[in-house]
Amino acid sequence: MTTQPEKTSSRPKADSRDFERAWMEQSISLAITSVNRGGGPFGALVAKDGEVVATGNNQVTSTLDPVAHAEVSALRNACKVLNTFSLEGCVLITSCEPCPMCLAAALWSRVDRIVYSADRHDAAAGGFDDRKFYDLFEKKPGSDWPLEIEHLDLPNRTEPFDTWLAKADRIAY
Ligand SMILES: [Zn+2]
Repeated sequence: MTTQPEKTSSRPKADSRDFERAWMEQSISLAITSVNRGGGPFGALVAKDGEVVATGNNQVTSTLDPVAHAEVSALRNACKVLNTFSLEGCVLITSCEPCPMCLAAALWSRVDRIVYSADRHDAAAGGFDDRKFYDLFEKKPGSDWPLEIEHLDLPNRTEPFDTWLAKADRIAY
């Protein structure tokens, strides 16, 4: 058994690296189990104060959901467990470097840290687009992108924000 990390240690001290190694082992196991159950080879978990809050695995094909990546699943599950939309104070442990979508999801979730094991090159070797998407994000959306993005400028384009800012009881996030 390893020792309990300090309660404030989402930024780990030296010995809480042991925890993160164990959590990473768990994420890699989740990824392997995911493959054996018909999912993609990715697993992730969210931990807080030295405890695992929730786990997730890739469920793109099993749930017909292209954004059901392991990290997104873990973030969603953690928010449900903690009954919050902010994962401040949490760490996201993932078997593979997050793709740009999951990286953005982690930013929106406000986790303190991300720890990954396999990287975008490992994912590419496994047949996944992570590196390709990272390369795309280095460039401005345009001719190199597999989809078109168009700006349609309507006169009321800011009305949703005006409505939002005028709402006294809005919940900022
Ligand atoms: Zn992803």
